[in-house]
Amino acid sequence: MLLKIENLRVNYGNVEALHGVNLEVNEGEIVTILGANGAGKSTTLNAISGLVNITGGSIFFRDTALHKLPAHEIVKHKITQSPEGRRVFTTLTVQENLILGAFTSTNTERIQKSLKWIYELFPRLQERRKQMAGTLSGGEQQMLAIGRALMANPKILLLDEPSLGLAPILVKSIFATVKEINKSGVTVILVEQNAKAALKLAHRGYVMEVGNIVLADSAANLLINEQVQQAYLGGG
Ligand code: ATP
Repeated sequence: MLLKIENLRVNYGNVEALHGVNLEVNEGEIVTILGANGAGKSTTLNAISGLVNITGGSIFFRDTALHKLPAHEIVKHKITQSPEGRRVFTTLTVQENLILGAFTSTNTERIQKSLKWIYELFPRLQERRKQMAGTLSGGEQQMLAIGRALMANPKILLLDEPSLGLAPILVKSIFATVKEINKSGVTVILVEQNAKAALKLAHRGYVMEVGNIVLADSAANLLINEQVQQAYLGGG
């Protein structure tokens, strides 16, 4: 077991957003979290990254209690997040954005190696490496956000809605790249509105409803699950 979340509770003010979430991730897996808007998917990722206050339960990365660590310590354990809504540094170039993603490392040789790998994964970023990130298209910014998260050489990559707002052809390409990233040994937790594509890519999936996990199964089983088909796959 690489990551084990038990009975996780998160509050925003007086309102509880996660009511005791249990979720496990094995090394090498792609695990997807499905659910309607507001179900708590992003909150779960943000709890793993240390970006929200945990009010109860635990998150273990192997033997490390992540729930006790601040975000800047969690990232040192090689758990990185590519946030929903891209958030690149608009007045820096593509390459400068990527290099910032490697902030946990001072090893220039390693940074160059990661850069090369990311440019292989996203040739478009290489073509545009000197361009200001703010002038990239939405899809290119999405690639850059994922690339930047990869620069930290993560063990676990947390992806929040990587296909959001992208044209279908780009969605396909982003998903193919996520598969490649996973094949290179990175464990992936994927939050997606595009449930069908996510389940086709993932090994296992969890379904969330208003702060609870209501279903957990192999991705193959979830794809043929009637409840999932009705709610998330357009009725099958
Ligand atoms: P979406 O698919 O719309 O991004 P989600 O499943 O990722 O939804 P979350 O963003 O985790 O859902 O939100 C879970 C609940 O917590 C929602 O009711 C949301 O309104 C609430 N929430 C999220 N962030 C905050 C915040 N910073 N302050 C207050 N409430 C919040």
